[in-house]
Amino acid sequence: MDGNSGAGFAALANVLRKRPAVAPGERCDFCGEPVQPEHAHLVDLHARRIMCACRPCALVFEPQGAARGRYKPIPTRYAEVTGLALDDAAWDALQIPIELAFFFRNSAEDRTVACYPGPAGATESQLPLATWDALAGSDPLVATVESDVEAIVVQRRRAGPARCYLVPIDAAYQLVGMLRLAWRGFDGGDEARAQIERWFAALAERSRGLAAPR
Ligand SMILES: [Zn+2]
Ligand SMILES: [Zn+2]
Repeated sequence: MDGNSGAGFAALANVLRKRPAVAPGERCDFCGEPVQPEHAHLVDLHARRIMCACRPCALVFEPQGAARGRYKPIPTRYAEVTGLALDDAAWDALQIPIELAFFFRNSAEDRTVACYPGPAGATESQLPLATWDALAGSDPLVATVESDVEAIVVQRRRAGPARCYLVPIDAAYQLVGMLRLAWRGFDGGDEARAQIERWFAALAERSRGLAAPR
């Protein structure tokens, strides 16, 4: 602040050196403080990005459902969705090129967005999704999905019915981010498939015992 910058600069350099090296995402995006491994996430509705929040900053945006303006807290519920009639015909109509995708409601654009994984990360489907909207209306749990902050992850399977879960949207993006590194070829390859299996196994564990949709 004053003209005596030499000592000030040395002190600042010292502080910067002492700052622990952390990967992106391990600091609160609101105040810069380090966050616990398990911390809250919010969606910045203007910039369309996920923000990490420390406990004090996350509290500013509670309770859920209050007027929150630009930042919307991401809920933490996980639940299996069992009521979607997602047969081959419905899946084909969605025109998702691979067998895994997630869907969420973009409130700013007032439409449902489909995202699927690949070597470049999440690819957004540009197709009209009237088929999905009609499907979603048939399941009471899917009807409760919160815009912008919750997603429905769906995996089509050759044997057996499609797998379908309601998840926090950060979990959906984490899955895609993880798969990006493992993705090989058009359909992902063996390693990506193994990661998807592990992810769904953990998901089944986590969503077990949740109350049935009202
Ligand atoms: Zn903070
Ligand atoms: Zn985070």
